[in-house]
Amino acid sequence: MQANTEKPNTVPAAVLERLKAAVGPKGYTTDPDEIAPLCQSWRDNWRGWVPMVVRPANTAEVAAVVAICAETGTPMVPQGGNTGLTGGSQPHDTGAEIILSTTRMNRVREIDTVNNTMTVDAGCILASLQDAASDADRLFPLSLAAEGSCQIGGNLSTNAGGTQVLRYGNARNLVLGLEVVLPDGRIWDGLRGLRKDNTGYDLKQLFIGAEGTLGIITAAVLKLFPKPTEIQTALVAVPDPAASLSLLSRATEAVGEQVTAFELIQRRAIDFVLSNVPGVPDPLEQSYPWYVLMEISGQGPPDSLRDTVEGLLGGGLEDGEVLDAVLAANRAQGQALWKIRESIPEAQNHEGQSVKHDVSVPLSRIAEFIERADQALAAAYPGVRCVAFGHIGDGNIHYNPAQPLGERVADFAKEYGAVNRIVHDLISELNGSISAEHGLGRLRRDEARRYKSDVEMDLMQTLKDALDPTNIMNPGKVV
Ligand SMILES: Cc1cc2nc3c(=O)[nH]c(=O)nc-3n(C[C@H](O)[C@H](O)[C@H](O)COP(=O)(O)OP(=O)(O)OC[C@H]3O[C@@H](n4cnc5c(N)ncnc54)[C@H](O)[C@@H]3O)c2cc1C
Repeated sequence: MQANTEKPNTVPAAVLERLKAAVGPKGYTTDPDEIAPLCQSWRDNWRGWVPMVVRPANTAEVAAVVAICAETGTPMVPQGGNTGLTGGSQPHDTGAEIILSTTRMNRVREIDTVNNTMTVDAGCILASLQDAASDADRLFPLSLAAEGSCQIGGNLSTNAGGTQVLRYGNARNLVLGLEVVLPDGRIWDGLRGLRKDNTGYDLKQLFIGAEGTLGIITAAVLKLFPKPTEIQTALVAVPDPAASLSLLSRATEAVGEQVTAFELIQRRAIDFVLSNVPGVPDPLEQSYPWYVLMEISGQGPPDSLRDTVEGLLGGGLEDGEVLDAVLAANRAQGQALWKIRESIPEAQNHEGQSVKHDVSVPLSRIAEFIERADQALAAAYPGVRCVAFGHIGDGNIHYNPAQPLGERVADFAKEYGAVNRIVHDLISELNGSISAEHGLGRLRRDEARRYKSDVEMDLMQTLKDALDPTNIMNPGKVV
C-alpha cells in the first residue's frame, strides 16, 4: 500500500524506498490504519503522524535503518509497546519522522541459570519474560500494570519502576549488559553478564532511562532471582499516610528485604475503582480513609511467613497504625487485592479531567507532601478531588487531582499548568523529583528545565550533542 497522501509526509520517497529495502516486505508498513494507533498514546493525550513504521527483525536491520536515517537526516522515534505515559514514544505531527518499532525482535537469546541471567531482544513483551524466567525456575521481578503490552526495550529506556522496586530495584538495577545501535548506525555490543566490571565508564547506564534519545536498545542481559516459594499479601486499612510509613518500618524491621511491595491507596481511588471497573468488590466491610497493599515474600515453605505477617498486623493494630486488614488466604485472593490497585489508572480515566503527577520525595517527607498538596489544591480549586496512590515504599506517589464534580472538563483542563505548578513547586521545596518513574518525554521536558540546575541540564545536553549531534534520535524529547 502507498503512503497516505492526505497525511503529512515530508520524508523523501527515495528515503522510504531505501528503508523498505533494508527491512524487506515484512519489516515496514505505510498503511494509515496500522500506523494511526502507533501514533497515539495510551491516554490519548498525544497524537502525531509518520509516513512509515519500520519493524526490523534483528540488530543488523536496526543498524541498517539507523544508518540510512543518519545519512539522510531522517528523525526516528524508537517504539516498544507504546504504553509510555509522557509522549516519548509518539511522533510529532509533521510527517517528517519515522517510527522504529522493536515488535518483531522478540527472541529470548539465552537463559543462564548458573549466572542467573537471561539475554533477550528488546522487543520481548515484559510478561513473556516473566514467564520465560518462571519456566527456568527463576524470577524476573520487574512488574507493572502494562506488563502484557510493554516491551523490555521500552522498560529499560524509561528505567521503569513498578511494584517490586522496594525489594529488587528499578529497571536500571536489573541490567548487566546492553546492545545498542548508536545514532550513527554503529552497534555497541555491551552484552556482558558481569556483576563486576570496572573498566571505565559504565556506558549502559547512559542508555537506560534515556527514552530513546541517545540510541536504540536492541538487546539486554537481565538479572534473574530465585523464585519466591512463599508470598503473603495483605490489604491493610490505616488512619493516614504517616501510619503507613510506621507500618513499613515495623515490617522491614521484622523481615528486612522480604517486604517486596508496599503500595498506598487513598479511599477515593478505591471509590473510583468500585464505580468504574466491574467485578471489583469493596475489600473490607467498612470504608477507611487510607489503605496499604503489602506483599511479603521469601523462600520458605508455603505459609511459613503467615504468622510473622499476622504478628506485624496485630502489633500495628495495638499501636493504632492499623485499623483493619484482610490477609489473602491464597494466591487467587492475593491477585484479587492487586486487581484493585492495578485498576486505579483505568478507573480514574472515567472521572473526567485529572492532572497526573508521578512524584517522589524522601520517605520522611511523604506524609507532609500529601497533606500540604491537598490543602493548597483545595484552597485554589474548591471541590477538587485529589487522589494519592502508588509506590509509597519507594517514596513515589501518583498524585492525581481530579476535576470537581459538576465542573466542565475543559475548565479544569485549562488549569493543567497551574495545578502542576502547585504540586511541583512543593516537590522541589521538599527535595523531591517531578518524575519518579515515568520519565520526561515531552510531557515533563520543559518542567524539568525549571527544576534542574543549569549544570545538570548542561551535562544532559552535552551527552545528547556528543552521541546524536544532528538530533535525529527521538528529537524534542527529554532535552
Ligand atoms: C496501565 C499502565 C500502568 C503503568 N504502570 C507503570 C508503573 O507502575 N511503573 C512505570 O515505571 N511505568 C508504568 N507505566 C508506563 C509504561 O508502561 C512504562 O514506561 C514502560 O516501561 C514503557 O514500555 P513500552 O515498551 O511501552 O515503551 P514505549 O511507550 O514504546 O516507549 C517509551 C520510551 O522509550 C523509548 N523506547 C522504546 N523502546 C526503545 C528501545 N528499544 N530503545 C530505545 N528507546 C526505546 C521510546 O522512544 C519512548 O521514549 C504504566 C503504563 C500504563 C499504560
